[in-house]
Amino acid sequence: MIAILKHGTTPAQTQHLIDWLKNMNLDVHISEGQEVTVLGLIGDTSRVDMELLGSLDIVESVKRVSEPFKQVNRKFHPLDTVVQVSDAKIGGGHFAMIAGPCSVESEEQIIEVAAAVKAAGANLLRGGAFKPRTSPYAFQGMKGAGIELLIKAKAATGLPIVTEIMNISTLDLFADVDVIQVGARNMQNFDLLKELGKTQKPILLKRGLANTLQELLMSAEYIMSEGNENVMLCERGIRTFETYTRNTLDLSAISVLQELSHLPVIVDPSHATGKAKLVPPMAYAAAAAGADGIMVEVHNNPACALCDGAQSLTPVQFAELNKKVQQIREVLK
Ligand code: PEP
Ligand code: MN
Repeated sequence: MIAILKHGTTPAQTQHLIDWLKNMNLDVHISEGQEVTVLGLIGDTSRVDMELLGSLDIVESVKRVSEPFKQVNRKFHPLDTVVQVSDAKIGGGHFAMIAGPCSVESEEQIIEVAAAVKAAGANLLRGGAFKPRTSPYAFQGMKGAGIELLIKAKAATGLPIVTEIMNISTLDLFADVDVIQVGARNMQNFDLLKELGKTQKPILLKRGLANTLQELLMSAEYIMSEGNENVMLCERGIRTFETYTRNTLDLSAISVLQELSHLPVIVDPSHATGKAKLVPPMAYAAAAAGADGIMVEVHNNPACALCDGAQSLTPVQFAELNKKVQQIREVLK
């Protein structure tokens, strides 16, 4: 349920109302915009007398929120969430260009790619240290040593770093990581989501291979319900009957998620397509559709990459992609 307060309501009046609602065992989420203040009521709202609440002097209107996701819901929080990552802002008109290799492979590799993507205009560096691989015999990532190398790349370039967590037991290793990624395969690892919700780290939550947008939003709700509001959603392609591409990029997810939720929406055209030649056109389409950011795999030598070489761009290709993405954003302004 949400209560929209009248313009001109004083902080004391708002607080008085919040105290009254909290006395009914409800959590109250406050969203203060320039024009309007929205109180989101979380918990068992069946005991709230909507008519009574709506009749109060300071209350403009009261609405039931029928969707099961509450804190993620734009009705609870009409303004776009802007996630602050180090010096970078993401969402609400601020764009993230996240680039880097699928996996951290060596110090030379990650420093070289970091410097190249920075020079080409990326504002965040990605790189997997814990890799969820389909085969147990495939390269599993450098793990803690990989995170150490990402931290070195961050020191060398100033780029904040994004890397995936697979198990909450490794959380201590992520102390200096700027954005923790939850991969597609862990989107519904609810224990992991709840623990990440207890931190204040920005979380990049990727859509599962076969999950609906509502399920993605419910997973974001798991993180937010524990107190962490720094959540970004990532569309990375879903599994369909099509086999030419690795997955099928659901471009409409951008608009749907932005309508239903206030969280930034990032698009990953690399895992969505699995083919380097398809990455630029899908990145342009995502930028044109209003994505809040793009995450692209870039490798200094894709042919020799230990993971996902076929979908990795060279630094030169990435520079061209970023230039065009920024041009598209200019046109849309
Ligand atoms: C990744 O971004 O490194 C990754 C493994 O992606 P996904 O979880 O989307 O497959
Ligand atoms: Mn990858």
